[in-house]
Amino acid sequence: MAKYSSKINKIRTFALSLVFIGFIVMYLGIFFRQSAILMTIFMLLGLLSIIASTVVYFWIGMLSTRTVQVKCPNCEKPTKILGRVDICMHCNEPLTLDPNLEGVDFDEKYNSKKNVES
Ligand SMILES: [Zn+2]
Repeated sequence: MAKYSSKINKIRTFALSLVFIGFIVMYLGIFFRQSAILMTIFMLLGLLSIIASTVVYFWIGMLSTRTVQVKCPNCEKPTKILGRVDICMHCNEPLTLDPNLEGVDFDEKYNSKKNVES
């Protein structure tokens, strides 16, 4: 079975990796300091990636306001649900807000409208 992680956590990891990629790209630019153009390109790419991560962090903030706080039936800790199905941030228990999906095996495809309607 594939390992799922809570959506918010996934996006947060993505944003964090963007920051690292940004710094690595900017660092790589130093190796091209003989060429002002190449170095500028690397610096700009790095900067763009860091800006993108800021945007993603902002997006997480927006998403957080749309999550539903529930108490996990498995570990009894409060957790957040984003979309129709998500998993518990603490114990990875699949959670759903849709009674039709209760008891159905957790599948991320339920979050995509395309698949739900077919
Ligand atoms: Zn839990």
